[in-house]
Amino acid sequence: MNLIIGSHVSFNNKKQLLGSVEEAISYNANTFMIYTGGAQSTMRSDINDELTYEGHKLMLENNINAKNVIVHAPYIVNLANRSDKTKYDFYIDFFIKELDRCKMLGLDKIVLHPGSATTCSKEEAIENIAHGINLIYKSTTNTMILLEFMSGKGTEVGTSIDELKAIIDKIDDKDRIGVCLDSCHMNDAGVDISKIDDFLDEFDSKIGIDKIKCFHINDSMNQFNSHKDRHANIGYGTIGFNNLLNIVYNKRLEGIPFILETPYINRNQSDAYAPYKMEIESIRKKEFIDFINK
Ligand code: FE
Ligand code: FE
Ligand code: ZN
Repeated sequence: MNLIIGSHVSFNNKKQLLGSVEEAISYNANTFMIYTGGAQSTMRSDINDELTYEGHKLMLENNINAKNVIVHAPYIVNLANRSDKTKYDFYIDFFIKELDRCKMLGLDKIVLHPGSATTCSKEEAIENIAHGINLIYKSTTNTMILLEFMSGKGTEVGTSIDELKAIIDKIDDKDRIGVCLDSCHMNDAGVDISKIDDFLDEFDSKIGIDKIKCFHINDSMNQFNSHKDRHANIGYGTIGFNNLLNIVYNKRLEGIPFILETPYINRNQSDAYAPYKMEIESIRKKEFIDFINK
């Protein structure tokens, strides 16, 4: 089975896409995910076409198919609440420009956190999200938005199959909408990952399994149904190595890019390092490598 696996990698001003591809290759990954700037900010610099070209060339040489590469929208974009119209309009405008950047980068899928209802009801929030996406689609012709399955922290929307379906039902251009699952978020939202096939059955009957376009593979630091959302390294959390392997090697998910968003080792210390090379190796070997305690 041809596993498509990678991680979140950085996208910096100096090397842009080329640097991201180099980082992915250093982890022996065959896909990756980027933010086109800060994950927490809407500050963006211009895309350098030369670096994009070099990045795609390097992808081709290393069997990385650009179709499997994912962009992630910054967290602060919140389409779920429309009480501050200026803010809502700013997010729409930002997102239209973000889709232009995706086009310039030659990437066609962007993950979006559906958003937090904050002061409005979930029903209104779902309406606001769909309205925003429909506006964005009216001004753009490229890029599929992947709604991420969320943990249900605070007033987050998109924390169940039914909520994601409710949004998708209101989207005009169904060909440009998909879903990004996240094992940590699912566990924290109350999905029993050890029964992943039951979840996929329900997803298939309500939304359609072909709508799953990306899967974030993370262990969880928190208990089942905690609505917390803190990612743990593969095999070091409450989901466990075997349950995560059963997702990655599930026949029904074959061909979907799996993206690690697990924390750096020695986080916040001067010797912090990315775990992705080892995590990818252990997933490929189907053998848990205890690289943290070794
Ligand atoms: Fe996310
Ligand atoms: Fe995620
Ligand atoms: Zn998360």
